[in-house]
Amino acid sequence: MAFRAVVIGPARYAEDSGIDSHPSIGASAQMYGETLAADGMWGPDSCRVLGEDEVQTTDGVMRALQQAADETTPQDIFLVVYVGHGQYWSDLPGAQVHFSVGRSFRDKPWTWLSSWYVYRVMRKARARLKVLIADCCYSNLLPQLGEEPLLPGVLGELDEGTCVFTAVKNLNFADAAGCPSLPGDLAQCTPFSGHLLRILQNGTKDHNHQLTIGLLREAVKQEMERCPTARHQVPRMSLNDARDGTPLFTNHMEPARRDLAPRLPVAPEDWVRTLLLDRDDRLEELLKDAQKTGAVVALLNGAPDEASRHLAGYIDDRANSAFTEPRAFARYWNQVDRALRV
Ligand SMILES: [Zn+2]
Repeated sequence: MAFRAVVIGPARYAEDSGIDSHPSIGASAQMYGETLAADGMWGPDSCRVLGEDEVQTTDGVMRALQQAADETTPQDIFLVVYVGHGQYWSDLPGAQVHFSVGRSFRDKPWTWLSSWYVYRVMRKARARLKVLIADCCYSNLLPQLGEEPLLPGVLGELDEGTCVFTAVKNLNFADAAGCPSLPGDLAQCTPFSGHLLRILQNGTKDHNHQLTIGLLREAVKQEMERCPTARHQVPRMSLNDARDGTPLFTNHMEPARRDLAPRLPVAPEDWVRTLLLDRDDRLEELLKDAQKTGAVVALLNGAPDEASRHLAGYIDDRANSAFTEPRAFARYWNQVDRALRV
């Protein structure tokens, strides 16, 4: 099994492009490379930070991405990190988020990289787990790819093992200046990447020795919510189909400083929190109780975010196979159905 990453971070744009150059973009991209190289699970050869010449054009980015994707095998983890500007034109056919490249111009959509191409390469890669971390404006709209009309071959047809983690930024180019509460070079990064990278470097208090994407997301969210110096937008997982709890990064916090392993959840709300952290090993426990499983699915169905509703669908599939006995299924469905009718 190999861990492979491609980091795309176009920091500089032409004077007359109408797009702001931000050193924080380049600093973040470099820091992803250094941080992954220093993580024992990844190592120095696992990550390719695209050079300044490569990030000039969509062709340069896509060639590098395609090459990395072609090298993946069915055991691999494939991570794509994009740091830069995002744009969204609702008047383009199948409007999609577009990523900037070095030669992009503000009002010329054809000079930008459609996220559809990035998704397509990722989807076709053989890796068993594919993760896109997007740190750009409009990244909250990335799931637009899955909305009607469904395009063939994008995340509308969910593939096992695909997830997207985004810095939610709905304001144009607002949040690129570094966060002063971050130590050392991390303060030169964009706030989302800076906080995320700090967690990759220092770890979290979670008892696990390794971090899943769910644990990482939760840690970044908590850290950004509590950040003393800035009011950040809260990142989110737009979509998580990587339900097997694959560990992605080393938890670098000393074991003595971490929390003890939590007990099994009791209330449905606690179950929701636990399962959203990719703790699928615990799902078996939940499935022993049909009524509670129903209550958890009902809560997730009612949540505003796609990740929760997607998880609801996943548990529902498992429940359908687990509760074949009619009375058990009735206990399950009664809870789900009641919530649907409210
Ligand atoms: Zn901050």
